[in-house]
Amino acid sequence: MQLLSIKECDIKSKKVFIRCDFNVPMDDYGNITDDRRIRSALATISYCLDQGCAIILGSHFGRPKGEPDEKYSLAPIARRLHQLLKVDIKMAHDVVGESAMKLSSELQPGEVLLLENLRFEKGETKNDPELSRAMASMADVYINDAFGVSHRAHASVEGITEHFDAQHKAAGFLLQKEIQFFGTLLDRPVRPFAAIVGGSKVSGKLEALINLLPKVDKMLIGGGMAFTFLKALGHNVGNSLVEDDLIPEALRIMEEAKKLGVKFYLPVDVVAAEKFAPDAMSRLVSVQEIPDGWMGLDIGPATVRLYRQVLADVQTILWNGPMGVYEMDRFARGSNKIAHFVADSYATTVVGGGDTADLVQRVGLDEEITFISTGGGASLELLEGKILPGVKPLLKA
Ligand code: AMP
Repeated sequence: MQLLSIKECDIKSKKVFIRCDFNVPMDDYGNITDDRRIRSALATISYCLDQGCAIILGSHFGRPKGEPDEKYSLAPIARRLHQLLKVDIKMAHDVVGESAMKLSSELQPGEVLLLENLRFEKGETKNDPELSRAMASMADVYINDAFGVSHRAHASVEGITEHFDAQHKAAGFLLQKEIQFFGTLLDRPVRPFAAIVGGSKVSGKLEALINLLPKVDKMLIGGGMAFTFLKALGHNVGNSLVEDDLIPEALRIMEEAKKLGVKFYLPVDVVAAEKFAPDAMSRLVSVQEIPDGWMGLDIGPATVRLYRQVLADVQTILWNGPMGVYEMDRFARGSNKIAHFVADSYATTVVGGGDTADLVQRVGLDEEITFISTGGGASLELLEGKILPGVKPLLKA
């Protein structure tokens, strides 16, 4: 998949609109708790600054209801951008209103303008053509660097691209890096290639499992989704998370793995709890001995040992989805242990965004991973084999 690249685009001294993903986590006091997504956008912004561009930045943040809401203002993002880039950041009070239009038309080379939260406009998530047109009218060139939202056909991601020809639109460095990394991973992985797939439900990852199966050498399952597979094999899984309607699909996947010669691993023991709560009574049991009424909330130590051994000889590891309810300390151990092993591995290690990226960061291992995606939903859709709506218009003919 070849993308129109910012490097091949003549942006010198032009006005560029860069769609970024500044949707960062914040605490109750409005402090940015993790600015990885902002830092990841700096390469493209700095490059445009060096090319003498006037830069208009657009991003969403949180889930405002299609109207201005102080709580979701991008003002804290502007401050962090200023700290990181060490240039003044002009801030518009709206997206395509009077303030944005005036500031963008007056913007000079070397200046940076940040629009207000794009989702203050109802039309953003509806891919409204009028909104796309208004945003496009501000700039000569459109750059998409918002991987985390490229699986959404939104006005600033998809609709806007219609207003620029192939010489005037491109993917930024972050978007290119993400697409290239997943492309290589899925098309030409260095083998043996193992995928660790966890998270809550089989349904959320079903398409990714099916698409990954013929590409990997080993598949290791964890998290809540493991229990649908275990039940399909006839185990009594108590009150663990199970999707009964997907049991036939789970059996088919295991059958397919056998046919393809893919080694398919399920947990052999779990941390079972009496209820879904941080203070629940819990105990370590083999998957054959989950007490009635109890639920498995983490993989156990025997599974961690098994998975370590299975991963010891692989050259590429893809990890998507936690091994247990990592948000509760009591049930985070399995995920933490796997995170340490993945981080220590000499293999190329790729972590899908979202929860898995969050947990790797919590244990302070993010620097040790070869590549952590900035997009949970978007990376999952790539693993499902889809072409993202924000990427399609940027493909080379
Ligand atoms: P997903 O969004 O599908 O990747 O799922 C992530 C969520 O799965 C996290 O919030 C975990 O708490 C949850 N999860 C992981 N393991 C389990 C489990 N054994 N039972 C219930 N939820 C789980």
